[in-house]
Amino acid sequence: MKLTRASYDKVMIPCYVPMDMLVERAHGCYMWDTEGNRYLDLTSGIAVNCLGHTPKGVVKIIRKQSRELIHVSNIFANIRTVQLATKLVSLTDFERVFFVNSGTEANEAALKLARRAALEEYDESKDEIIAFSHSFHGRTFFSVCVAGQDKYSDGFGPKPGAITHIPFNDLETFKKTINEKTCAVILEPVQGEGGIIPVDPKFIKEVRALCDKFHAYLIFDEVQTGIGRTGTFFCYQHTGVVPDILTTAKGLASGIPIGAVLTKEKIAKHFGPGTHGSTFGGNALACAVGCHVVDIVSKPAFLEKVRDKGAQFEQDLLALGKKYGVFESVRGEGLLLGCVLADKYKGKSAALQKLCFKHKLLVLLAGADVLRLAPPLNIKKQHLKEGLVLLEKALNDFTLQNS
Ligand SMILES: *Cc1c(COP(=O)(O)O)cnc(C)c1O
Repeated sequence: MKLTRASYDKVMIPCYVPMDMLVERAHGCYMWDTEGNRYLDLTSGIAVNCLGHTPKGVVKIIRKQSRELIHVSNIFANIRTVQLATKLVSLTDFERVFFVNSGTEANEAALKLARRAALEEYDESKDEIIAFSHSFHGRTFFSVCVAGQDKYSDGFGPKPGAITHIPFNDLETFKKTINEKTCAVILEPVQGEGGIIPVDPKFIKEVRALCDKFHAYLIFDEVQTGIGRTGTFFCYQHTGVVPDILTTAKGLASGIPIGAVLTKEKIAKHFGPGTHGSTFGGNALACAVGCHVVDIVSKPAFLEKVRDKGAQFEQDLLALGKKYGVFESVRGEGLLLGCVLADKYKGKSAALQKLCFKHKLLVLLAGADVLRLAPPLNIKKQHLKEGLVLLEKALNDFTLQNS
């Protein structure tokens, strides 16, 4: 039986509406469907494939590691987990690591950890979590209720309590909201799904100071911004503040499922034996690939290239968007960029994405008004240029369609 895109709709629970093709293989920044069409992929599996598709080094590590050890669970300590944790600790301001399999699970663990630490250090009244409008922290029921998008958390019955949502980058509201009962404040240093909105440098410094004043844990969700995406290994490293807990996932093993929670010793101790766990978390295969990715991405020369390519691409995107009057601005950091549609085209990002697809260019959305680009971190300049050529064709069609 020949499988097609239509077969997908017959057998899958209809949570997703994937593009009109069936992907068969991918290499570097190109993807091929079952019909033999080639696409330029600037999505990286949603900021996951940081070294591109099926990179040689990753293939090699998977081969080698899968002959040695794949999985043993956490009733045994395996050497790859320890290696990856050691690398993450040495590259950051943190002392302890907990591994999971996804961004959601990393946030779930971080939020549970903050609640447990506050309970044990203070008392049970210190349980309030402050989060921000348009934030995204994943899809488990706790993480999705903490995130500030009701459309994702409504309709599943009673929600966990003691969660307050306030506008992002709004210092006055934050000052009025944080208090002695605040247990944790969670934010993305660049809001990803919510529209590629970087945190304001002044705001984040004040948030840090107020978290200290009220003994609230500051959690950075770096699931999307981590692992070099914004031009430093973690985004917090150029914000000038250090969170108490950091979560990461997406790019950490360039396509193999993994996530991690990083924190300080004094907080980590509240997750004693039995308080939390994950069967697959710290899986040897995923951690071996993670070690390889971290070794490459953490090199200063690699990160410098991410910043350079990102800055150039941002400029080029803006110039192109202005030429057609379609983008009012381009924002973001490193190779996580959002093209903000001009007023006239608000709400039409999906239509533009479809036209990109028509021209065999794959891009992401960040809401109805923003086209999001997250190319592989090691993408060559010539491929970014090729992306601009294809995008120009799509913009041309888009303006005709909307004239
Ligand atoms: C993708 C994402 C998540 C969820 O990660 P999953 O791996 O899909 O569970 C959480 N937070 C942010 C900021 C993300 O971008």
